Amino acid sequence: MLNAGGSGDTICAVATPVGEGGIGIIRISGPETLSIASRFIRIRSGIPLCTIESHRLHLADILRADVSLTEASLRFQTPIDEALVVYMKAPRSYTAEDVLEIHAHGSQTVLAMISESCLQAGCRLATPGEFTKRAFLNGRLDLSQAEGVLATIKATSEQSVAIAQRHLRGDLKQAVDQLRSRLLAMLAHLEAGIDFVEEDIEFVGRDELKKVLRETADVVDAALNSSRTGRVLREGARVVIVGRPNVGKSSLLNRLLGDSRAIVTDTPGTTRDLIEETVHFDGATLSLVDTAGLRETTDAIEREGIRRTEEAVRDADLLIIVIDATDLAQAAPTFDIPMFDRGNVVVALNKIDLLTPSQIADLSDHFSLPDGGAPLPISTVTGEGLKALREVIKDRVGLRSLEPSQSVTITNIRHQEILLRCREYLAKALDSIESGTHPECVAVDLRGAADTLGEITGVITSDEVLHRIFSQFCIGK
Ligand code: GDP
Repeated sequence: MLNAGGSGDTICAVATPVGEGGIGIIRISGPETLSIASRFIRIRSGIPLCTIESHRLHLADILRADVSLTEASLRFQTPIDEALVVYMKAPRSYTAEDVLEIHAHGSQTVLAMISESCLQAGCRLATPGEFTKRAFLNGRLDLSQAEGVLATIKATSEQSVAIAQRHLRGDLKQAVDQLRSRLLAMLAHLEAGIDFVEEDIEFVGRDELKKVLRETADVVDAALNSSRTGRVLREGARVVIVGRPNVGKSSLLNRLLGDSRAIVTDTPGTTRDLIEETVHFDGATLSLVDTAGLRETTDAIEREGIRRTEEAVRDADLLIIVIDATDLAQAAPTFDIPMFDRGNVVVALNKIDLLTPSQIADLSDHFSLPDGGAPLPISTVTGEGLKALREVIKDRVGLRSLEPSQSVTITNIRHQEILLRCREYLAKALDSIESGTHPECVAVDLRGAADTLGEITGVITSDEVLHRIFSQFCIGK
C-alpha cells in the first residue's frame, strides 16, 4: 500500500538542465523549506526570509551554509550569487508542500555551490521525479496527470505536446473516473442483488447491466484505437519505400531527407540493406526505410535484403510503391505486395521528367490501382510532384487528424496495456451475463474492470509501479 502524502523530509534539486544558461533554478520542497532556506538566503530588503510573502519574487543573496559559520560571520560572507527567490506556501505549490525556488545564474559551478548550501543547511537531494511523486502522493495530481508532466517534458512534436497537455490537465483522469464510477455503481447494485438472491430480488436488470458494459467497452475500444496515433507520435510513423530495382527509391529517400544518405547507382540491386533515417514533417517524425529491390534472385545477401523488405512492409504504417514511369511493364509484380489490401499504400510514378506531357497525361488512363486511387506522378530529378507526395504522406499516416480538440488519445504503453486488460474483463462479464452465469462471477469481472481502470489514475497502484513511473523523470522534476 502507499504512504499518504507528505514524506517528512525536505528535498532539493537543480531543476534546469546541465549546461550553461541564463538562469538556473534550484527547487526546495518540504515542511522545513523556510527554516532551511533562511540559513543561507538573505533577502536584500532586509526582511527575515521566514516572513516573506508567498508567490512573489524577492531579490536575495545566496550564501554558503557552512555549519561552522556563525550568524554574524554569515552576514559578512561574499555571496555565491545574487538571485530571485520565490516562496510558494503549501498547499498552493507544485508538490502541495512548502516550496522555494532559487532563480540563480545558470552556471554549473554556481548551481553546484548553491546545492551544497541546501544540503549543508539540512535538505536531502531529491531522487528522480520526487517532486512530481510528492505532488501525486499529496493528491495534487493523479497518476495520469503525472505521466502527462513526463510526456510534456519528453515531447518531440507539437502534436505530442498538445496531447500530453490534455493528459496533464486531467482529460484522461476525468474520462477514466467517469467509466469507473459507472462500473462501480453497477457493481454495488449487483452485489446488493447477490445478498438477496434467495428472495429473488433483482437490483439491476440484465439489460441495463449489459448496456453499461457495452458502452464502457466501446469507450475503451475507441481509446485503444487512438493508441496507433499515440504510437506514431511517440515513435514516428514508419513509411516504407518499396519497388523494383532502379526505379528511384534511394533517390526519393534522399529527396525526402534532403541529403545523400542512400547510395544511388545505375546497377540494379545495389540497395541490399535497409537504410533508416528519420525526417520531421510538421512536428511529427517519419521513418523512411529504403529497401532492397523486389525481384527473384539467387544471391544470398540480396535474398536476405528481400526478406528484410518483406518484414519492413509488414510493419509499415504507410507504403510508398515506386514505379518507373518509363517502364510500366515492369511494375506488375510490385502489386503482389499483401499490404495493398490494407489500403495504406501510395503509388509514385517516378522519372516523369523522361516523358512528354502527353505521355504523362496518358499515364493515369493506363493505370488503375487495386484500391481505386490514382498514382502520383513524380520526378526525383526535377522535384516535380514531391510536394504533393509529402501532403499525401501526412494524410495517410493520420498526422492531419491530430487536432488538439480530439478526444482523449492514448500515447502511453502502460495505459494501453491496462485498457487491454480492462477490455478482457468487460468481455468476460458480458459473456457471463449472456450465458446466465451466477451474478457473483459477473461481479468478479466487473470489479476487475473497475480496478484495472483505477491503475491509470493511481487509485489502485503499488509502490513498484510508482517507482517504475517516477524513475523515468529527471532529478528536479
Ligand atoms: P533504386 O534502385 O530504386 O534505389 O533506384 P536509384 O534511386 O538508385 O535510381 C536508379 C537510377 O535512376 C539512378 O541512375 C538515378 O539517377 C535514376 N533516377 C532516379 N530518379 C529519377 C528521376 O526522377 N528521373 C530520372 N531521369 N532519373 C532518375
